[in-house]
Amino acid sequence: MPAISDLEIGLFFWAEPDARATLVNVLSTGVTSGQLAIDGTVKLTPETAAEWKAALAEADFHLFTVFAAYEGENYADIPTVERTVGFIPKATRAEREVRTREVIDLAAALGVKSFGCHVGYIPHDKSHPDYIDVRDMVRRIADYAATHGMSYCLETGQEPAGQLLEFFKDVDRSNVKINFDPANMILYGSGEPIEAFKLLRPHVISVHGKDGDWPDPAKPGSLGTERPLGEGSVNIAKFFATLRETGYTGPVCIESGVHGEAQRWEALKRDVELLKSVRG
Ligand code: MG
Repeated sequence: MPAISDLEIGLFFWAEPDARATLVNVLSTGVTSGQLAIDGTVKLTPETAAEWKAALAEADFHLFTVFAAYEGENYADIPTVERTVGFIPKATRAEREVRTREVIDLAAALGVKSFGCHVGYIPHDKSHPDYIDVRDMVRRIADYAATHGMSYCLETGQEPAGQLLEFFKDVDRSNVKINFDPANMILYGSGEPIEAFKLLRPHVISVHGKDGDWPDPAKPGSLGTERPLGEGSVNIAKFFATLRETGYTGPVCIESGVHGEAQRWEALKRDVELLKSVRG
């Protein structure tokens, strides 16, 4: 198991069909730790778990978190996110709960202590049936994760920090935590990320290194634009200073969707170097 430093710079990456080849690329960026994301098309069989377990051991790679994404999710704009992402869409709620348990089982087989996903747009009205159903589903998933000694991380973005905190308190499970994504706060227009981080800080166990610009106010319902690390509105240096000031010592995993396929790993290598130099 590699040594993990304070503010360890890791990589958020997607499971590709060949676990070993995926990790060769991930290691080429200069990290030895990260978060594995499982999209809805990945077949979750005992063989999948065995292949990832062997590949992680061979690569001496530390996984902080396994994330789940679901078939049918679409991040085109805010109304589409509301309609398709996480546990909110009623038509897929039951099947996504089953899938979530399967991804948690995979994480457990890999010895990972944290699971995460987007819940989706939580209704503001606490008496709304979707609010109640989704809150209860989050409780069931948290309780299932707890049977594996695992925390369940809510990913930030769709809610302002205050609203997420209210939901968090209402869920009322000690193993529910927060994966804080500063760029998502900007991309969804959910609030200034440094203030949001300070509010959520006691519950944050992992952080994403991502950057972006605010939505265009002339285009209601639009999302902001993801930008290369250091070129967006997060203010990465100030964000790292805030991580330090607030005593956060957990990982910062680079999540980037802006690099084209051909240059992706080279570009991520530069991102890793950039964050390591900002961290110092
Ligand atoms: Mg993120």
